[in-house]
Amino acid sequence: KFLSLTLLWSAALATQTFAQRKTIEQRVDSVMKLMTLTEKIGQLNQYSGREVTGPASDRKNYLLNDIKNGMVGSMLNVKGVKDTREIQAIALQSRLKIPLLFSLDVIHGYKTVFPIPLAESASWDLSIIRRSAEVAAEESAASGIHWTFAPMVDIARDPRWGRVMEGAGEDTYLGSQIAKARVLGFQGEKLGALDRIMACAKHFAAYGASMAGRDYNPVDLSKQQLHEIYLPPFKAAADAGVATFMNSFNTLNGIPATGNAYLQRDILKGKWNYKGFVVSDWGSIGEMIPWGFAKNLSEASEKAIVAGSDMDMESEAYKKELEKLVKSGKVEEKYIDEAVKRILYKKFELGLFDNPYRFSDEKREQKVMSDPKYKAVALAAAQKSIVLLKNNNNTLPLNKSIKNLALIGPLVNAKRDQAGNWTVYIDTANMVSVHEGVKQKIKGAKLTYAQGTTVKDTLTNGFAEAVNAARNADAVVMVLGETWDFSGEAKSRSDISLPGKQEELFKAVKATGKPVIVVLMAGRPLVFNAIAAQADAVIYAWFLGDQGGNAIADVLFGDYNPSGKLPISFPKNVGQIPIFYSHYNTGRPVTKAGDIRYKSAYIDVSNDPQYAFGHGLSYTTFSYSNLKLSSNAINQKENVKVSFTLTNTGKVEGEEVAQLYIQDTFASVVRPVKELKDFTKVKLKPGESKEISFELSPEKLAFYHEEKGWITEAGEFKVMVGTASNDIKLKSSFELK
Ligand code: BGC
Repeated sequence: KFLSLTLLWSAALATQTFAQRKTIEQRVDSVMKLMTLTEKIGQLNQYSGREVTGPASDRKNYLLNDIKNGMVGSMLNVKGVKDTREIQAIALQSRLKIPLLFSLDVIHGYKTVFPIPLAESASWDLSIIRRSAEVAAEESAASGIHWTFAPMVDIARDPRWGRVMEGAGEDTYLGSQIAKARVLGFQGEKLGALDRIMACAKHFAAYGASMAGRDYNPVDLSKQQLHEIYLPPFKAAADAGVATFMNSFNTLNGIPATGNAYLQRDILKGKWNYKGFVVSDWGSIGEMIPWGFAKNLSEASEKAIVAGSDMDMESEAYKKELEKLVKSGKVEEKYIDEAVKRILYKKFELGLFDNPYRFSDEKREQKVMSDPKYKAVALAAAQKSIVLLKNNNNTLPLNKSIKNLALIGPLVNAKRDQAGNWTVYIDTANMVSVHEGVKQKIKGAKLTYAQGTTVKDTLTNGFAEAVNAARNADAVVMVLGETWDFSGEAKSRSDISLPGKQEELFKAVKATGKPVIVVLMAGRPLVFNAIAAQADAVIYAWFLGDQGGNAIADVLFGDYNPSGKLPISFPKNVGQIPIFYSHYNTGRPVTKAGDIRYKSAYIDVSNDPQYAFGHGLSYTTFSYSNLKLSSNAINQKENVKVSFTLTNTGKVEGEEVAQLYIQDTFASVVRPVKELKDFTKVKLKPGESKEISFELSPEKLAFYHEEKGWITEAGEFKVMVGTASNDIKLKSSFELK
């Protein structure tokens, strides 16, 4: 039997040398024909395996054995050419020599650390977002990685959730554009290039709506909200050709996403006709047991495979249970075949059957890892991610001839924190802190540094030194915020105020009467009312990665004119959450400021956020004029062209993100007060004007109706163009007939 199989396989290999003439589908089928049921199931199994290249251990033996026996389709957390090559060689000792896929969470850079995804989303700059994903792909592909678990395209409207840092914020339209840019960045136009990797749209679906912002919590959503708000970024990723999807830990209306046939079979593989494969989230098949959805691992496996989860990350459920389930007739083999085919297809597309070591060139790895050209990309991404929230009396930019500057706060020298969560390498030698960035900028000035307090403790014994430094300075830059480990997976907070005694430190420093500029670093929107009210200027700097200190210094001293806009609303307090710009009017809207009697309002805080979605200042000013619509009445198949003039009316060059919103005024399903439908980022010299136009297609006017699906309805649409969701400059309307 062994001999005949070997013959068969070499026959298959021989046909592979004519590979160009065979379609991938045929090649997949020819491999499938050689596979036993056990080997098929092996392809569905994914292990995390830092241990495989580590010191001898039981776990190491166990993993290596499974790899050698063809019981593993993919490894995560093995990286670098040396290690991936070594492990691939073991996979090639298996009977069918099917190569492994090496996967990793390359979330915001591999060797070069880029701003966290939420920060980059604040750039609203799709080309830099795509470019940073390209760089991450170039570096990781050169390091033997085939596949990243990114982008996270979950819409997130609850800043308590620690994973807001990994996404693109609260808005569906912006999130969809960014999803596409990131997928194209990681993968390129077609899979298989040596400097690109497979992307993964995660977490399917609605993970961002986890109840109360607590990670892993249930999600209860209407079909309308699911389709309209949460699914479009996934659809955009699928349309951009994303190779894989990852499902999620949450339930959706009572059904765990991993065992959810509506999501994975009906929508993804059905309606969207998606051809890639779905990997479970870490252990999420097994987690259906504590959820109370499956009695044991066998039932969990059955539910997951039938619902369309193709690859099992770290539950070992498929490996242990699927064969028995097929043999007992509980699970039809066609489900296994389908999953295996989807996975093998990707291995062929990546060219791994032709050369399993394609991504394993040590020389290339060395060259790419030390390529200095990526620094400039990291700097541009960091600059563009910064949002200037407040700038009273043009406090910023600071004059470079300043004599005496105080740098105060726990994050002045915080390289680890500046890198943010979900990093692969942190090379502090290559990373620039705020202290270093500022020092470079004003070499002649006296720079005094005082830590003042820490982020996590409630220490105040550094206050006196900080206040003293402020007293002797011409201006103060405070760098405050969260440490890196306040956000990311399992990092939900119930209170999102600035931790520790940092606001008290701010107040003490502010009391000196010196101009105080606050730079905030965080992985989420924070609540910082005293700073918002009293600081002379506030810069939101998220976690900007390697070049953070340089980018912040560039903004502080006017070498870069800030251009970022918030991709998520900043609440005034936790009680306002969820708060997002595309809210509903209610039957009792607050129509006059202050008049909240029997209105949909709080008696203790206004309905407005501290800083609105789309908000972000510049060192120049822009004016909007001359709004024109191509038509005031269109039919259901026509577009409306919206055009206007944007002018830089200030004294320096700057970039503006012009935003187009609509409101469908009356419909059979109530519509939000505003919905973003387009944007563009434009650079203008002082005095320069540009004609800008957006297209409103019928697709952009549609909404999801529980019974009818996506529809458009006749009626009036308001058109709003502005510089922020709460700062609309031009208005008009048209009729859809
Ligand atoms: C996360 C995923 C991640 C996976 C692998 C899980 O805990 O939810 O986003 O890709 O681990 O590291």
